[in-house]
Amino acid sequence: MRIAIIGQSNFAADVLELLLDRPNIQIVGVFTIPDRGSREDILATTAIIHNIPVFKFACWRRKGVALPEVLEQYKSVGATLNVLPFCSQFIPMEVIDGALLGSICYHPSILPRHRGASAISWTLIEGDEVAGFSIFWADDGLDTGPLLLTRQTNLEPTDTLDTIYKRFLYPEGVKAMGVAVDMVASGVAPKIIQAEVGATYDPAMFKTENQVINLQATAEKIWNFVRGLDSVPGAIATVLHENGTEEQIRLFGAHLYSAGPVSNGKVLRLRGLTKTAWIHSGGLLIEGTDGAFVNIRRIKRGTKVINASEWFKQAEDQSITDFSEDEMVKRSLVAGIWKAILKEDVDSSTDFFASGAGSMDVVRLVEEVKETFDVPLQNEQVFMAPVFEEFFSLLVRFLRQASACSDDQQLNFQAFTLKANKREIRVPTQLFINGEFVDADSQRTLEIVNPTNEEVLCKVACASATDVDKAVQAAHSAFYGSWRQITPRQRGQLMLNLADLMERNKEELATIESVDSGAVYTLALKTHVGMSIEAWRYFAGWCDKIQGNTIPVNPARPNNILTFTRKEPIGVCGLITPWNYPLMMLSWKMAACIAAGNTCLIKPAQTCPLTALKFAELTVRAGFPPGVINVLPGKGSDAGQAVADHELVRKLGFTGSTPIGKHIMKSCADSNLKKCSLELGGKSPLIIFADCDMDKAVRHGMSSVFFNKGENCIAAGRLFVEDRIHDEFIRRVLKDLRTMTIGDPLDRSTAHGPQNHKAHFDKLLEFCRRGVDEGAKLVYGGCRVPHLKGYFFTPTVFTNVTDDMFIAQEESFGPIMIISKFNGSDVDSLMQRANRTEYGLASGVFTKDIGKALNFADRIEAGTVFVNLYNKTDVAAPFGGFKQSGYGKDLGQEALNEYLKTKCVTVEY
Ligand code: NAP
Repeated sequence: MRIAIIGQSNFAADVLELLLDRPNIQIVGVFTIPDRGSREDILATTAIIHNIPVFKFACWRRKGVALPEVLEQYKSVGATLNVLPFCSQFIPMEVIDGALLGSICYHPSILPRHRGASAISWTLIEGDEVAGFSIFWADDGLDTGPLLLTRQTNLEPTDTLDTIYKRFLYPEGVKAMGVAVDMVASGVAPKIIQAEVGATYDPAMFKTENQVINLQATAEKIWNFVRGLDSVPGAIATVLHENGTEEQIRLFGAHLYSAGPVSNGKVLRLRGLTKTAWIHSGGLLIEGTDGAFVNIRRIKRGTKVINASEWFKQAEDQSITDFSEDEMVKRSLVAGIWKAILKEDVDSSTDFFASGAGSMDVVRLVEEVKETFDVPLQNEQVFMAPVFEEFFSLLVRFLRQASACSDDQQLNFQAFTLKANKREIRVPTQLFINGEFVDADSQRTLEIVNPTNEEVLCKVACASATDVDKAVQAAHSAFYGSWRQITPRQRGQLMLNLADLMERNKEELATIESVDSGAVYTLALKTHVGMSIEAWRYFAGWCDKIQGNTIPVNPARPNNILTFTRKEPIGVCGLITPWNYPLMMLSWKMAACIAAGNTCLIKPAQTCPLTALKFAELTVRAGFPPGVINVLPGKGSDAGQAVADHELVRKLGFTGSTPIGKHIMKSCADSNLKKCSLELGGKSPLIIFADCDMDKAVRHGMSSVFFNKGENCIAAGRLFVEDRIHDEFIRRVLKDLRTMTIGDPLDRSTAHGPQNHKAHFDKLLEFCRRGVDEGAKLVYGGCRVPHLKGYFFTPTVFTNVTDDMFIAQEESFGPIMIISKFNGSDVDSLMQRANRTEYGLASGVFTKDIGKALNFADRIEAGTVFVNLYNKTDVAAPFGGFKQSGYGKDLGQEALNEYLKTKCVTVEY
């Protein structure tokens, strides 16, 4: 059989390739449309590859009469069957009837329903339950010829013009054309006369006037009309602006919306709509005449498709103009990719779609750009930036984000200039919400006091519940929006960028921390800031290694079952931290939270929020999208409580005292049963056996209590010293204390700085007074450091402390060493005494006997055990308490799980 293929497009090219495989068939000619510019139709290109003669006609007839030269060329191929897979031209009857066996034609509806050029659109617009196609014997162009075969499929509520074409009409249509040709070849092709019952001839939707949506209709009719024209050409609506002007737009991504109306929407006036339309966070919500709702996700405005929810936002994605040299090189590479796809020269104003690109070209563009530049580009974004300049700006934005070269980015904030440590450091003083520094809604401020001289350093915005709500909304939008677009590996890269920036600014951060919290500068540098950086680097590594399990479960015979788990982020997390290691507590929690893929807001302690605000500035420079990280200094009873109470916060990570921890846990339960992890107080026992390395025991014993002026949650709250070395141990401790340098924390020789704030300082005085009243022996300190302004508390030692005393039971959180004696023969009693506390955070033992040490480790009820050292924490090792020291871990892989939820998926196959 000699076949002439008349038509165009990928569909026709695929039919051609299919027929080429048939041994009894020869394709004698391909008739298609002329090139558009330098762009040849794919059918012609395919035919040329297979050495098939190609004829390109602009038209086949003039004034109703077939063009003789065209007829002559058609006849020259001697076809016995004409195959019309997809043909947009009017073919004269001389050609239709010119082949011995006639002409067969593909039509995208089940004839006779929906005759005409826009049959697929009308299938959706009319709300049909089935869609399909027909192959019929071509007639005079009105789709009335006898049927050869039909195929059908159910229409799904999620179907649009695009999906029905891609999932059924195209792939099944190509196959069916092959079947139809085979039937003709073997002489079994029927010719079934079309019934006129139910026949319609529908208007052509390529005419603009037919694309205008009638909004005086039910929600279902509006929905069907939009999806019938989605994605090409898009239903037309007109926006009536407040200033009296009008703007034509096109609507895409419609779905019925049963959760309407919305509470937080802003009204948009549309011509012809008597009910209301709102722009809201999910798109454009339109009320139909029946009171039901339809939601529109995307709007085409001019040449650009935007998320409907962003209608009222200022065009924040302005084109970039300050391209670097390197970016200009990349520009030529992108232009090269566009040129190869569009087969035409590309300049700034080239419109991808106006130049003839289709959906497969979008896929190719996205894949090539992703491969070349390793950016998380999505197909949808091409529709949103179809003009070359916009597209390139989008790409540059991605690249800048990834490489964090946004260091130079302009970021506006109110700041105070800290002049300290031979530096001038600008520290933001506003709340950080949704990527911007803003004033508190109430305009209230917190006075930040320098504990070294008791003077007010600056005033910082003080968040209220209203500000917390704004931050939660921003974090919520980011969680379901921009943050989802970032792949785990890119997330890790952002965290590494941030860690690098912290490293570059570590002296600044340590200076702020030292001035704000009273931490000795060298310690701030190494621990407060150093360990924060390590936490960000450590957790960055986890981002792309968060994985679930495949679990063998009982099969449901005769079928099989596959069960697997996914570890997913929880959502918006609230973080509340204390004042002892402001930046480190933030980093321990937030790095795990962010690595797991959550968004967050943090309320740092009201007394020292400055490093958190400087940190917020660095997150912008590192390229974190707005809303992912929010920082809100404020009071615990107000802003902190609002975080714990908020219904959109799904997880609360808290570090602080046990009483507040208990209160917060209740709030978590009462609000929305949010998951919470609590790192609370401690009264950690440290046992020093007589067989220890005495030098080491004294050195570590000192730091177990006096490290960071005792403002250390794992500080040894009580030392048990074996009676044989008790006096010697105390003698050596006192000797070291007498030479301890106390003073300005920024001075490199200082070993002991001021306590964090006045209320805490006063509590320490009270703590010591109670110890003395209860009969403990105060052998050193217990008072303010004489002649020094600032909250300087003398390192203190109590001996003869018995188990029933307040100072033996309660945490001081200050530089107060509490010493009790024990007898080495009575380890059982010793263990009972060490465990006789409701806390269970940390513990320590000094002995050269490994058996004794491991025995202690077995029996002590504490989350951390140190043997022959103290305070050695590491970002890879889990950290957290037992009993009323809370639950849930910071650091290590276990911390990640605190910020993940497990989803179990079971599949039968
Ligand atoms: P805190 O009084 O419990 O305060 C901790 C945080 O909670 C602060 O940000 C505080 O805000 C906030 N807060 C207070 N009331 C709140 C409420 N009703 N709702 C929500 N948030 C509220 O503890 P702290 O005095 O700052 O810190 C010292 C305690 O922390 C000690 O007990 C120490 O052992 C513990 N800690 C434990 C660990 C650990 O890992 N286990 C580590 C460090 C410290 P304000 O700023 O307004 O007070």
